[in-house]
Amino acid sequence: MNIYYAPPTQIRSGQAELKGQEAVHASKVMRIRPGEGLTLVDGRGGRYQGKVRDVAKNRVLVDIEDHKQIPEPRPQLILGMGIIKKRDRLEFAVEKAVELGARHILLIRSERCIKKNVRLDRLESIALSAMKQSLRSWLPEVSMVHSLKETINQFPKARILMAHEEVSGGASNYAAAYNKEDQVLLLVGPEGGFTPKEVEYVADAGAELISLGHHRLRAETAVTAVMSPFLK
Ligand code: SAH
Repeated sequence: MNIYYAPPTQIRSGQAELKGQEAVHASKVMRIRPGEGLTLVDGRGGRYQGKVRDVAKNRVLVDIEDHKQIPEPRPQLILGMGIIKKRDRLEFAVEKAVELGARHILLIRSERCIKKNVRLDRLESIALSAMKQSLRSWLPEVSMVHSLKETINQFPKARILMAHEEVSGGASNYAAAYNKEDQVLLLVGPEGGFTPKEVEYVADAGAELISLGHHRLRAETAVTAVMSPFLK
């Protein structure tokens, strides 16, 4: 199944409009034609069935035939990850985090980050593709923050879990303990990990430090490992 995306502003009076890359993809790559049926999501839980009315290169008009509102998954999973230096590894981490259900992804310029800037537009388009690929209806927000403090301050109500390789005892069943929460903030360090000062700061803020097993994982693997126990 192929899913298309149109933000809520492009859906009104029983019609949806695909624009930009979405329209090019539909018209040029998928060669969609008037009369064909399609599914589209608005990234805010809206899921629509419609029939194509008109196709131009940069604009595809769809008549809406059915609409469903998909409730936002709970707990809301927020991933705060140190910026990974290698671009392909960072992009992998963002893509997998979306597939596994992240609702917000914060790229943290933590103390041991080597790379300080990212192409947010690229990561947003990866997040969009991953949302469609995984048949999700909520489009995650990707943003950059300057520190762990800023990350935590943005989500004052969230329960915080920090993946920390120095926690002994191996992986625990943390998802079961946090599944009833409204918001869970999951923190994963960059290649060089978090500094002792950062770990202390987060622990003081009430975070639980968790192990992802007895072995050291690469940052992008840790991202997938920390998210997957929450799969439903
Ligand atoms: N500080 C380490 C490795 C960092 S790995 C070093 O340089 O030797 C990158 C991040 O992945 C860590 O900050 C942590 O959040 C996570 N991570 C990796 N392996 C982990 C494990 N076994 N348990 C918990 N977290 C882990």
